Amino acid sequence: MYRRRGYRRSRRRREELRAYMQRILTGVMVICIIIVCVTVAARTRKATQRVEAETALMQAQAVIVKTETVKETVKQLQEDVAYAGVNKEEERQDSVIIIDPGHGGVDGGCVFDNIVEKDINRLIAAQVVARLREMGYQAELARQGDEFVNVLERVETANRKDALLYVSIHQNSCEDRSVRGIETWYDGSDTAKDSGRLAQLIQQETVRETDAVSRELVSESDLCVTSKSSMPACLIETGFLSNREEREKLVTKEYRDKLADGIAGGIHMYLNSDE
Ligand SMILES: [Zn+2]
Repeated sequence: MYRRRGYRRSRRRREELRAYMQRILTGVMVICIIIVCVTVAARTRKATQRVEAETALMQAQAVIVKTETVKETVKQLQEDVAYAGVNKEEERQDSVIIIDPGHGGVDGGCVFDNIVEKDINRLIAAQVVARLREMGYQAELARQGDEFVNVLERVETANRKDALLYVSIHQNSCEDRSVRGIETWYDGSDTAKDSGRLAQLIQQETVRETDAVSRELVSESDLCVTSKSSMPACLIETGFLSNREEREKLVTKEYRDKLADGIAGGIHMYLNSDE
């Protein structure tokens, strides 16, 4: 009986020990599973963070590329604009407008009340050149001072320079002292030169500026300055020195400046409209 009781006790203890060992084992397994789960979760989070970081980096790079593209486009536009400006300037520098003060030197033109036509022509022409230069055009006088220059020589010089336009300025006279007003002459036989439109715009703008009488546009193929020039050309008679009222206006700077504004304005309109 004693041995049997001892045997039973020993068996119970072994069972208790086995149960205890099983609990420990279970505990260890649970801890291992937790460790594995935590490790996997941590790795997954790191991987997610890396993907997010890479995505953000790619987005940032895309923004940089886009910004660089915009910068390049703006730079190109600025270069184009600068280049266009240079072209326009060069084009204007190559194309000179010749303003011809009629007569000069020993050739005074008509004279009334000691007022000599060549002087009035020169004063108006110089003001036209000044106005055109203010507007950005290249402009020159056909004679610089009070010298005699043959009409044909003036035109041939303009042709050699391949001038853009040729505008001659004169004063008119008439036996009938009541006649007054502005008239413009051109050669209508050469329609390719477009001189008619130039004459019409200069006539229109000088009359508008001065309120003078608008007489007529005259097409005349025998006039040297308009027929021998290879560019669009016209000759404007800005007033009658034989008419006292008009002569008294022509000797004032104020009236001559209005005439010059009209001539320069007509030239500007001609160069900036197609018809
Ligand atoms: Zn004249």
